[in-house]
Amino acid sequence: MILHLYALCLGLCMGSFMNVLIYRLPRDLSIVRPPSHCTSCGERVRFYDNIPVISWILLRGRCRFCSSEISFMYPVTEILTGVLVWYSFYRFGLTAQFIHAVLLILVMVSAGLADLFSALDTESFECGIIPDSLIVFGIGGALLMAYIVREDVRFAVYGAAVGFMALFIPALLYRLIRKREGMGFGDIKLVAVAGAFLGVKSIFFVVFASALMGAVIGIIWQFAARKRDIMIPFGPFISAAALIYLFFETTMDKLLYGI
Ligand SMILES: [Zn+2]
Repeated sequence: MILHLYALCLGLCMGSFMNVLIYRLPRDLSIVRPPSHCTSCGERVRFYDNIPVISWILLRGRCRFCSSEISFMYPVTEILTGVLVWYSFYRFGLTAQFIHAVLLILVMVSAGLADLFSALDTESFECGIIPDSLIVFGIGGALLMAYIVREDVRFAVYGAAVGFMALFIPALLYRLIRKREGMGFGDIKLVAVAGAFLGVKSIFFVVFASALMGAVIGIIWQFAARKRDIMIPFGPFISAAALIYLFFETTMDKLLYGI
């Protein structure tokens, strides 16, 4: 029981750190300096105001100094990460598999949300951004975990290579035929990271499920916004598909391949 609580707390704290990554990496800001501060008044966040979820509730979602609003997405990211990390512990126990899952959660949730929030922030960005540092960290982590869990890095190398090609080739064709960009390069690299962690077998699912989710949400989004031709970031769907496959690999393989 106590270990389950530890896992949840680890996830909440990880989510708190990921909020920093999600905000700062697309803006090319250092992730260590300056320490956490209010983005409105610049006042430093005191350590007792930096407790995941709880501080946000106690402060009622406002800065202690200037009362400007703190996005509800901060605690949402923390809760999401907390639940995912706890569920990984519940599923895999204290094993290398658990660390593998935690690394994948770190990369996928950060990359997906960085892409989503930078796409929504049209004042600062032209399109969603998936930070390269997350891609590099992800590939490195996947290679290391393939070595530890399977004693064979080829699992990650093949997964990354096939994952990269799975979107790179269609994107290249689209560009040649339509003479415009169809898919961001960040999305292509993110599928490569998913492939590195989850293996070649996962790629068809990741591409298929993310495209399906993206199409459904995209249609709803266009209706809600009453606008056509909105650029919907694809990163969040790739991340969601990768995490679904992480936890439900057997079920998804059965659905797709009947094995
Ligand atoms: Zn403030």
